[in-house]
Amino acid sequence: MSVSAIIETIGLQLRDLRGQLLDLLFPPRCVGCRQIGAWICTECLSQIPRVEPPFCARCGDRVTTEGLCTRCRNAPLRIERIRSAAYFGGILQEAIHHLKYRGRTALAKPLGGLMATYWQQHPMAADVIVPVPLHADRLRERGYNQAALLAHELARQTRLAVDEQTLVRKRATASQIKLDAKQRKENVHDAFCCSGGSLAGKRVLLVDDVCTTGATLEACAVALEESGALSVQALTLARAQ
Ligand SMILES: [Zn+2]
Ligand SMILES: [Zn+2]
Repeated sequence: MSVSAIIETIGLQLRDLRGQLLDLLFPPRCVGCRQIGAWICTECLSQIPRVEPPFCARCGDRVTTEGLCTRCRNAPLRIERIRSAAYFGGILQEAIHHLKYRGRTALAKPLGGLMATYWQQHPMAADVIVPVPLHADRLRERGYNQAALLAHELARQTRLAVDEQTLVRKRATASQIKLDAKQRKENVHDAFCCSGGSLAGKRVLLVDDVCTTGATLEACAVALEESGALSVQALTLARAQ
């Protein structure tokens, strides 16, 4: 074994040890029931309400009868379809908060697993998964893109490829939390573009953590279609009710 290989092995072992020590000092606690052992326990994960039909065939909003919702009948979205694995709120809202703002990146595995289960039950024709990008400044600040973490977990379980280079958020946008539907649309209008044509001719599956009005996904879909994507659908972990 060469000296550099030995140093690398020691480095890896030290990193493992550091992780184990941190887990010992600050053991993972379930974001739902606070039980020690995992960031979300299997019991709490199973209690998250999954999206059930009937929902709009296009945007995935709740509807009373099968078909299109009023919005999609009047002004259909460019994006072909939006689907979500579960409803936003309660334990899932807490888990997404920890994933996004508290550095609990390990939550991407069970939460991405929810998306993979949805996809396995309702497959969507896709060649490549594209996570909704963060602006470069936000990515630097947070250190990771939660949508990309979910995308990689979904990819691992579905064997689809991930492209997180081509779609770019070129403009930093205000937080959508306090905006109404019209303001959300204006906020993200023209905020995305594609660098290079590697998604041309591809069927894209966009991935994000939460869908509220679909404005962000729609703005991404416009940019992807303008750069030649064959079709754009989206799967989000959660959907606002
Ligand atoms: Zn729990
Ligand atoms: Zn709709």
